[in-house]
Amino acid sequence: MAAEWIKDTARPPPLLKASMAEIIDGRAIARKLDEQTKAQVTELIASGHNTPGLSVILVGQDPASEIYVRRKIEACERVGIISSEHRLPDTTTQDALLTLIARLNADPEIHGILCQVPLPEHIDSRLVLGSIAPGKDVDGFHPVNVGRLSTGTGGIVPCTPLGIMMLITSVIDDLTGKDVVVIGKSNIVGKPVANLLLDAEATVTVTHIHTHGLAEICRQADVIVAAAGAPELVRGHWVKDGAVLIDVGITRIEGENGKTRLVGDIAYDEVQHARAVTPVPGGVGPMTIACLLSNTVKAARAAAGLSQGNGSDYADLPSRNIFTGSGSIPN
Ligand code: NAD
Repeated sequence: MAAEWIKDTARPPPLLKASMAEIIDGRAIARKLDEQTKAQVTELIASGHNTPGLSVILVGQDPASEIYVRRKIEACERVGIISSEHRLPDTTTQDALLTLIARLNADPEIHGILCQVPLPEHIDSRLVLGSIAPGKDVDGFHPVNVGRLSTGTGGIVPCTPLGIMMLITSVIDDLTGKDVVVIGKSNIVGKPVANLLLDAEATVTVTHIHTHGLAEICRQADVIVAAAGAPELVRGHWVKDGAVLIDVGITRIEGENGKTRLVGDIAYDEVQHARAVTPVPGGVGPMTIACLLSNTVKAARAAAGLSQGNGSDYADLPSRNIFTGSGSIPN
């Protein structure tokens, strides 16, 4: 069953729904999650523990990465997490980066470390991400956290997939036996969200660029998670009546009048026969940042030896043991 706070936030009054697909308001759900995170920060400080701290590392000057990092730092301020930014030139050596991460790993005032990707070509991203202490890996990319997710044994869950699950469970109480199609099999979205969906007892089909008959596969789905980065790939006739659609893709394209605009992987105007759909922007994006903050506070709570609450951020599913239950946040 979906957590009450998510349902209360996401569902518009029935009269507003008419025959249009319900819009799943990612911004509103993210705000609600932020309120919860902020309250947990206050509680930690009041009980004499360190204020949660997040270190963000940015190597080079990729413009998109600069924007993402700025947003993450601003978001920390909103909920009371102390953030520190490490801006390094693109000439930084791999050794220097590893030395910085080792220092942050050992710093008790830092609970989360995030190294913005992509990294410059001379740096081995896998080696660097793998050098972050798993308990501080708030992106959930470390092999230990990936392994824990795939075995359902706790750990830190990657932010975008965690946010996607919150959005889905804001409209579907119980995913047991639901047919879910995930488009895209990346390590940061497709694969982890497929694991979370399996853990929620859905029947999951993971598809990708080489999948044959994608439209037909999608037409069977109760839920489609589109994470391909292919603008308006999912057309109206791919979607069955009453399906729930989560649009992860975000691409900037040339619009009319020479202006650019952001589009998702779903042809939004064609899917009004769906039950619910996330907008782009304003759907998955805000949830990703809110989940990063939430993960940081969870890591701080784990470092303080505190319990992780009821073990369920987005659903009170019986098999859910992320962050608690049989699992724990590794050191
Ligand atoms: P990726 O490039 O690593 O993976 C894309 C996947 O989609 C691949 O598995 C590929 O095989 C598949 N794919 C590509 N084109 C396809 C097609 N035409 N048909 C079927 N499958 C196709 O991308 P990613 O990092 O997983 O990101 C996917 C999209 O989600 C991008 O638009 C990205 O910007 C967006 N994204 C958004 C957020 C957010 O917070 N909103 C976070 C992460 C990614």
